[in-house]
Amino acid sequence: MERIDIKSLNLEELTAQLKELGLPAFRAKQIYQWVHEKLVASFDDMTNLSKGLRDQLKERYELITLQIVDVRISQIDGTRKYLFGLPDGHIIESVLMKYKHGNSVCISSQVGCRMGCRFCASTLDGLERNLRPSEMLDQIYRIQTDLGERVSNVVVMGSGEPMDNYDNLIRFIHLLTDEHGLNISQRNITVSTCGIVPGILKLAEEDLQITLALSLHAPNDEVRKTLMPVANKYKLVDILAACHQYFVKTGRRLTFEYSLVSGVNDNLDEARALVNLIKDQQAHVNLIPVNPIKERDYVQSNQKAIQEFKGYLEKHGINVTVRREMGRDIGGACGQLRKSYMDQKKED
Ligand code: SAH
Repeated sequence: MERIDIKSLNLEELTAQLKELGLPAFRAKQIYQWVHEKLVASFDDMTNLSKGLRDQLKERYELITLQIVDVRISQIDGTRKYLFGLPDGHIIESVLMKYKHGNSVCISSQVGCRMGCRFCASTLDGLERNLRPSEMLDQIYRIQTDLGERVSNVVVMGSGEPMDNYDNLIRFIHLLTDEHGLNISQRNITVSTCGIVPGILKLAEEDLQITLALSLHAPNDEVRKTLMPVANKYKLVDILAACHQYFVKTGRRLTFEYSLVSGVNDNLDEARALVNLIKDQQAHVNLIPVNPIKERDYVQSNQKAIQEFKGYLEKHGINVTVRREMGRDIGGACGQLRKSYMDQKKED
């Protein structure tokens, strides 16, 4: 019989299940805290449980724990890139960034991705599978344990499209923000989407205070279609209406991500079109100098173009920042570390 993924259960579900085994509610709470607060990697580490109970738990439950396959630490800013092995042998990538305001972890939501964005390494080999809530959580749990410091912010901006793994994403957020777990504030969580309209509208109804980031990357559908196949399915007018609905329902200001690609979306006509597109939105624009991947010939915009683009938006009342490049010395944008690891393994 397949064992139950205990790390994906909430406290209420765990309490109900353990009650069936004749265990009192306080035991469920103890076990939940071992898993989600003390972040133990095995049932044998739950030292206030008898050996008999630990064996009983092992028989019925699986404690999903990711293995650190590789970690690279930046000498410049302390950024750490982790490659994790999943129980079934798949490899995923997560990043820890150290900021003045705290430690932020960027997690993957899927193994690979099926969205096909032209500049992104995570999607080159398609989607392998969704990550379970436990596998999303454990990226943060292992990093916090390895670092020995509290993680305060989480961004779902690694490999994968979170809206394509919606139910697991929502469960993950509830577990991550649970007061008996890491208890991370909802306001310190950001979910980034390429613009799946039904997903955005559904998220608006969840009564959550998380930040929604939209990968915009273009001021109109024509340019967007050249960068993101998903633009053939959802039009910008509908995506932005859904984003506005998210703001109305949650009161949370959005983030629009705009990766600047030389000669593709970075001239002042495009800046003007962008201002017109989003001037009525309650949003902040994050400009990301595109991180070139070797499989495509996209080129990063130069500093002059970036500053001019930013200046134009600012002059027209748009709130804008340029994303600081973190961990420059440890190489690679989203999904590139995993991709180079997998390619290397194929050659071996
Ligand atoms: N699928 C989600 C979240 C993962 S991607 C989304 O599309 O938003 C996280 C962000 O990184 C997105 O804005 C994505 O477009 C951007 N991104 C991916 N590869 C990049 C690259 N090579 N350079 C710059 N930004 C990139």
